[in-house]
Amino acid sequence: MPEGKSLHIYNTLTRKKEVFKPLNPPFVGLYVCGPTVYSDVHLGNIRSNLTFDIVYRYLTYLKYNVRYVRNITDVGHLLDNDEGDDKIEKRARLEKIEPMEIVQKYTNNFHVVTQLFNLINPSIEPTATGHIVEQIEMVQRILDNNLAYEINGSVYFDVKKYSGEHNYGELSGRKLDELLEQTRDELEGGDEKKYFADFAIWKKASEETIMKWDSPWGLGVPGWHLECSVMSTKYLGQRFDIHGGGMDLKFPHHECEIAQSIGADGVNPVKYWMHNNMLTVNGTKMSKSLGNSFLPLELISGDHPSLEQGYSPMTVRFFMLQAHYRSTLDFSNEALQAAEKGLKKLMTTITTLNKLESSEKSSVNISFLIKKCKESMNDDFNTPITIAHLFDGVKIINSINDDKESISAKDLENLQDHYNTFVFEILGLKIEHVNSSNDKLANALMDVIINIRNQSKEKKDWETADLIRNELKRLNISINDGKDSSTWSYEE
Ligand code: ZN
Repeated sequence: MPEGKSLHIYNTLTRKKEVFKPLNPPFVGLYVCGPTVYSDVHLGNIRSNLTFDIVYRYLTYLKYNVRYVRNITDVGHLLDNDEGDDKIEKRARLEKIEPMEIVQKYTNNFHVVTQLFNLINPSIEPTATGHIVEQIEMVQRILDNNLAYEINGSVYFDVKKYSGEHNYGELSGRKLDELLEQTRDELEGGDEKKYFADFAIWKKASEETIMKWDSPWGLGVPGWHLECSVMSTKYLGQRFDIHGGGMDLKFPHHECEIAQSIGADGVNPVKYWMHNNMLTVNGTKMSKSLGNSFLPLELISGDHPSLEQGYSPMTVRFFMLQAHYRSTLDFSNEALQAAEKGLKKLMTTITTLNKLESSEKSSVNISFLIKKCKESMNDDFNTPITIAHLFDGVKIINSINDDKESISAKDLENLQDHYNTFVFEILGLKIEHVNSSNDKLANALMDVIINIRNQSKEKKDWETADLIRNELKRLNISINDGKDSSTWSYEE
């Protein structure tokens, strides 16, 4: 049986920490909103995916059998007010390629970045365009239940009617009359919806729209909120355990998901809602218009005016984990550089730990340290506190290494196991052989050196070629001569 009885999760729906009790243990259904693939993945996506990567890893560590579903939104969703261009098609026109080429290009980009940050692939990665039939069926069920209406080939969810019997706003805490105040100005323009808060679950397609599907209401596209309702319940059941996403998705996206599921099937779909917080840069909101928003790959290369250097993917991962997922995460060069140092210290400690020699008896208390790490992870996946506990152990490990303290063989094995499990499996960090900020320089230098060596080989100057090889070997760099070219690698 999973030992997760003491795991507590903050549930956005109930606004409190609850003991985690899955619906059908040891199975756990986890659904996370994935990216809309119309441009390069941004850092906010990475934080969200990292948050639920940790959730997935820790639940797996607790021996739950997790089915992790993360969607790809590959039909550009309409804007919140149900108007505006399809984002993917707009981009396709801009780049003068097919919408599905845009989808492929940015799906690939997303996957490259998730690999770089060592994010585990979901068990299922369904696409919106792959589930059009199910989306049409869900629209029909909502219509059958008289909680939607059709106007001019579009179908709208009837929020006014729904809120007569149900609590629209239960997740976000928003109240319809307050929302009405906020949107009064926008209503002037005349709208085919009956009520300001109604939202499209099927939208009639214009002549120019390329990606559109036939439906009982004519050619159109599904509303954005609909795909997540359909794909989550298709793969995890009408009611499932955890639904995650960024805080910005709470309203209207997730609120509408709840309404759609109740409207179609009478089931409140999610037991635990989890939302990660936003990113800031030097204390201000990260935004394109402020010029302070950088892409994950820019953060790695350092190729952005607000970055003093590049930071390796594991430095960024470690840095993000030093903030709790429900807190805002503030990027600054100082904080990233501190994370770089901290990560290096932690990795050096693990190398030391794995080489430690045991004694007859322990003078240190290991079980206390191990217990503390589990407690902090059980407390709503509190990674910063867990990392702090791992650093408490650094002092212990160093004093054993300096022969000031001693450790028994059994304790040593437990401690090694603990660090390897927590650092690599749960926090998902990995050893990076070459510090990424030096990557570019190292690669450029090695190109120069390998070129010189190749030239000496061509001139049959074996002495110089061997000298270069042997000197590099002393730096733990090995050159591998291929048929047409030579590559190099660094060994720790
Ligand atoms: Zn979603």
